[in-house]
Amino acid sequence: MKPYILIVEDEAPQAEMLSYNLEREGYRTRVASDGDEALAVTSEEAPDLVVLDWMLPVVSGIEVCRQLRRRVDSKHLPIIMLTARGEETDRVRGLDSGADDYMVKPYSPGEMVARIRASLRRSRPVSAMRPWNMPVSLWIWRPTR
Ligand code: CA
Repeated sequence: MKPYILIVEDEAPQAEMLSYNLEREGYRTRVASDGDEALAVTSEEAPDLVVLDWMLPVVSGIEVCRQLRRRVDSKHLPIIMLTARGEETDRVRGLDSGADDYMVKPYSPGEMVARIRASLRRSRPVSAMRPWNMPVSLWIWRPTR
């Protein structure tokens, strides 16, 4: 099954471009154009990862991130925060709110895909990666966070 990425972005052209690039890489995507929609959509079907824009109307990306982290079903959901701000204090605030990673706009689609891949690798259990010759007793599932 294709990994499902939720894109939270109010600027339609940017959301479409990212969605296009991710689907071309084999991901399934859905776009939410504001924070409330993002929270509703996440309850409906848990995404494998969220790309969350900081600058959203009404509820900011930071607040969406905090709310997702407070909920049991999205506590460990990988979140990549997206923003036009590049200040260190903003980066720290983004990570403090619970984001796993941070990308400054404009970003390269190639780097975004690489970061998503890395985030998914960290968040997924390694069950599928047990070497064929390793006894189950020696294979220990290690949570990454
Ligand atoms: Ca925006």
